[in-house]
Order: sequence, then structure tokens, then C-alpha cells
Amino acid sequence: MPSHWNLPDFDDHEVIHLFSDRHTGLKGIIAIHSTHLGPAAGGVRFWKYADKQHGLIDALRLSRGMRFKNAMAGLPLGGGKAVLLAENDTEKTADFLAAYGREVESLGGRYVTAEDVGMSVADMVEIAKQTRHVSGLPVEGKGDAGGDPGPFTAYGVYLGVLAAIKQGLGRDSAKGVHVAIQGVGSVGGHLARRLAADGAKLTLADIHIDRCDALAGELGASCVSTGEILEIEADVVSPNALGAVLTEESIARLKAPVVAGGANNQLATPADGRRLHDRGIVYAPDYVINAGGIISVGLEYLGRGDREEVESRIEEIPARLVDIWATSKATDTPSADVADHMAQAKIGRG
Ligand code: NAD
Repeated sequence: MPSHWNLPDFDDHEVIHLFSDRHTGLKGIIAIHSTHLGPAAGGVRFWKYADKQHGLIDALRLSRGMRFKNAMAGLPLGGGKAVLLAENDTEKTADFLAAYGREVESLGGRYVTAEDVGMSVADMVEIAKQTRHVSGLPVEGKGDAGGDPGPFTAYGVYLGVLAAIKQGLGRDSAKGVHVAIQGVGSVGGHLARRLAADGAKLTLADIHIDRCDALAGELGASCVSTGEILEIEADVVSPNALGAVLTEESIARLKAPVVAGGANNQLATPADGRRLHDRGIVYAPDYVINAGGIISVGLEYLGRGDREEVESRIEEIPARLVDIWATSKATDTPSADVADHMAQAKIGRG
């Protein structure tokens, strides 16, 4: 029996497509969790993993999350994700991206790719030379949907953080609220700028110290080490780096009453949703708050709607969170579990 069938994160995924191309060094995985609601959509991540197995596990987990994210956002799309393994000498050349584009094309539209960590709009342009099943391409006309999903994700996360501030702290704005942001890349950086404009007090952390220092200088914020950021005395902790940061140990050390950020798969295990709930921490389920990017690339791919439509769909995120928190409170159920039940109900049996 193939070994992936025994992995705890294998969840009856429809397709696990493993590929390599010895000429360009491409090695990767496209995981399709489900196409029940439509083509499986989700970004492609270029990342250096401890080993290939960790890359496969990430693809399995992320594609499952995309299925819930797309359903929850009301998109007629299933869940998929791709992971490209960065090794010491791997370069994202045009040939490398073309080889990946051919792999996407080989699936005949069952999977639609877009930007995720380590990938850019320029990379999507290269991929699009091989397949039309790609989104997050440069915007053509003023007001069109499309482009880098990061700022759209950040917009939704920002609105979600404001809703979480209201829910957890009873405050109507971010003015004077202390937010600790882990990861100041595309999503975390845009989020920081929006919160700073509202007068929030920001503490930032990033493994790229120069990036953190530059943004902190621009916004009048401060930087701490990546080890400290989750446990500082803040009002809100906002994870915007990689996943699995909310663990039994880190949750026990959290001092903030609110956790709301854009990173995918923040909970290391489902039990960590219960741990946050039991501590009375307001947690914004990741795939609900960070759906802005997929709303943008999804509508772009489907050819439905312009930028205004994208923004108005993103503006529905806070109400969805408030609904989840209300059910969580009424039923004494972790918000992450409430979100999963709601998403599953939207998907139906698929
Ligand atoms: P990015 O690569 O632009 O930024 C990630 C940042 O996190 C980088 O600056 C990196 O140096 C930093 N980082 C990595 N490990 C860290 C650590 N241990 N501590 C602190 N900082 C660390 O990626 P992004 O597009 O901003 O995505 C961030 C997260 O949001 C990811 O989990 C991604 O899957 C998720 N997400 C992104 C989008 C999008 O539209 N870009 C959409 C949904 C979810």
C-alpha cells in the first residue's frame, strides 16, 4: 500500500500528484482534496522543507484547508494546493516554472494554481505560458480583479482583526490596541500598515531581521525576536508567517486574549482549538479570516466580478467570524470546530 495512505494528514484526497523534472530540478506535489464544488483552487508554495515527507504533509494539510476556505467564502471551487521543494541549489528559473506549468496543465483544469509563500505575480506569468489554469496574473484594466492576492488577504485579515478586537476587548477600533505581528511579508506587512494607520501599537517579528527593522522604522513600531513574539503582553497576537504555531506549549504561554492572523493552518493539531477555547481566547479560524486572496484569484479565474465585487465579498468576512464566535459561545465549542462544521455543511457530502 502506498505510504501516503498511512499518513495522519491523508484525508481521502482525490489526487496526490508527485512530479519531478531532472533538467530544471523541479520536485513537487499537487494535492487535490476535493473537486466536489468545482476546480480545486489554492496557491503554490516554494519552500525549503526538512525533507520531502514534510512537503507532502504540508500539501495534504493545506489542500484540505483550501477546500474549507473556498466553501466558506462561497466560491464554487474545491480545495487544492501545490508545494515545490526548494533545495540548496534550486532556482526558480523560467524553465523550472514552465515545467511546473506543464504539470498543472496535465491535470486538465482539476487544479488551479496561484501565488503562495515564495511565489510572485511574475512567476504566475511564466506558468501561464504553459497553462490557463493559473490565477493571480497582472491586472489588465483599472478596476479588474486580479494581481497579487497578498494585499486582498491582508484587507480581510485587517477587517477580521477589527472584529476580533470588538469581540475580545469590546473596543470599536484598533486605536491604542497593542498588536503583535509574527511575519511581516506580504500579508503581515500590509496588515501592519493598515493597523498603524488606525493608531495601533505594533510589535513585529520576522526571521528576516532587516525586513522587520525597516518596517518598524517606517511605522514607529518595534521588533522582538521570533521566539518572543507569541508570548508578549499584547492585546492581539497575529500569526502571519507559517503554520502550526499554535501548539500546546505556545498556547499555554500566550498572554494576549485575541489571536487573529492570516497564516494558514495555525493550529498544530485540532486539540489546540480546544486549548484556545478553554483559555477563553478569541480565535479567528485561519481559513475564514484569510480568504481575501482566494476570493480575488477565484473571481479572477472564474471571470466573475471586478475589484469592487472582490472587496465587497471580502467585507463579508467579519460577519462570518461574528457568527462563528456566537455559535462557539452558545454551544461551548471551539471556534475552529464551529468553522469546520459550517464549511462542511456548505460542501455537503462531497
Ligand atoms: P511571505 O513569504 O510574503 O511572508 C511570510 C513572512 O514570514 C516572511 O517575511 C518570512 O521571513 C516570515 N517568517 C517565516 N518564518 C517565520 C517565523 N518563524 N517567525 C517570524 N517570521 C517568519 O508570505 P505571505 O504571502 O505574507 O503569507 C504569510 C502567511 O499567510 C502564510 O502562512 C500563507 O500561507 C498565508 N496566506 C497568504 C495568502 C496570500 O494571499 N499571500 C493568502 C492566504 C494565506
